Amino acid sequence: MTSPAPESSLAPAEALAQGRWIKWIGGASNHDLAALEDLAALASLAGAHCLDVAADAAVAAAVRRGIAWSREQGLTRDPWLMLSLSDGEDPHFRKAFFDPLECPPDCPRPCARVCPARAIPASGGVIDERCYGCGRCLVACPLGLIEERSQRLDGNAVQLLLQQVRPDAIEIHTSPGRGQAFRQRLKDITASGVVVQRISVSCGESNGLASHLWDLHSALEVTGWPWLWQLDGRPMSGDVGSGMAQAAVALVQRWRGRLPPGPLQLAGGTNADSRRRLNRAALEGSAPFGSVVGIAYGGSARKLLQPQLEQAERRGMPLRQCADLWPSALEALQRLWRLQNG
Ligand code: SF4
Ligand code: SF4
Repeated sequence: MTSPAPESSLAPAEALAQGRWIKWIGGASNHDLAALEDLAALASLAGAHCLDVAADAAVAAAVRRGIAWSREQGLTRDPWLMLSLSDGEDPHFRKAFFDPLECPPDCPRPCARVCPARAIPASGGVIDERCYGCGRCLVACPLGLIEERSQRLDGNAVQLLLQQVRPDAIEIHTSPGRGQAFRQRLKDITASGVVVQRISVSCGESNGLASHLWDLHSALEVTGWPWLWQLDGRPMSGDVGSGMAQAAVALVQRWRGRLPPGPLQLAGGTNADSRRRLNRAALEGSAPFGSVVGIAYGGSARKLLQPQLEQAERRGMPLRQCADLWPSALEALQRLWRLQNG
C-alpha cells in the first residue's frame, strides 16, 4: 500500500499561493485514454495540483476516473482538471497522418524510430489516439509523406465541450498578434456559463511576448477570473536533458521583469533539473510579481513511468491494478517533483 504525498494535502489554490504548485501535462493532443487514466491516477496520488489534458470529453472522463482511483487510495483533495485550448494555429494542437500504402516496402521507417509515443506501429500509419503532434516524424520521412492535421476546436465546439466537462481550469495557448482571437476564446468560455478557478495563459518566447501578455492581462481583468502565466520554454521538446531545463529557466530570467502581474509557471523543457536551476537562479517563491510559483511536467513525467506502464501492458492490465508497481512509479514522480529527498 502506498501513501499520498504530503504535498497532496495542499489544495490547488493554496499551492499556487504558496509557490508549491505542480502541474502534470497529459498533452493537448493526446487521446490515449487507457494510458491517460493510469497516468492521471498516479500523478494525482503523487501530489500534482492540476492535470492539464486535451479538450476532449472522453479524455476528461478518463482523467476523472484516474482521480477517483487516487481518492480510493487515500488522496484527500482533488487536483484541478484543466482543459487546453488554443486561440490559433499551434503545434500542441495537431496530429500526424500518412497513408502507409504510399510508403516504399523497403523503407527503414525512420518515422517510427523517432516517435516518442509509439504511435507509428509496424503495421503502418499513425495511431491517432497516441499521436500528440510533436512533429518529429514530419521531418524524419525522407519522402515527405507525413502531413499534420489541426485539432483546433471552433467556438461552438468549445462552448458545448465546456458545458459537458465543466473543468476546474482552462489553458489558452497563444502567440503575439492574436489578442482578438484570445478575447474571442474568453467570450466562448463566458458564453458556456462555466465558472473556472483559473485561466492559464501559455506562451513561448517570441518577439512581442511582453506586450502581448500585457494586452491579454487587460482582457483577463475584465472577466474577473484569476489567471496564471505559463512560460513555455521549449515546447514539444520531449523535456530531455539539463540543457532544456536551463533554456526554460533562462526564458523566465529574460522576461519576468517585463511581464504583467500574476503568478508565473514554467513548462516546456522541464525535467528533474528544473527545480535545482530555479533555486540557483533564485526564481522560486510566492511573491505576486516575477516569481515562479510552480512547474509543469509533461514528457519527463511520462518517460519516468514508461517502465511501469510497459510492464503493466505486458501483464494485460492497467497500471492501477498492478499494486506492486505503484511504489516505484510514485517515488519516481515525487523525486522529479522534489517531493522526496534525494
Ligand atoms: S512523432 Fe510525434 S507527431 Fe509523429 S506520430 Fe509520433 S507523436 Fe505524432
Ligand atoms: S519514413 Fe516516410 S516512407 Fe518511410 S515508413 Fe515512414 S512515412 Fe513511410
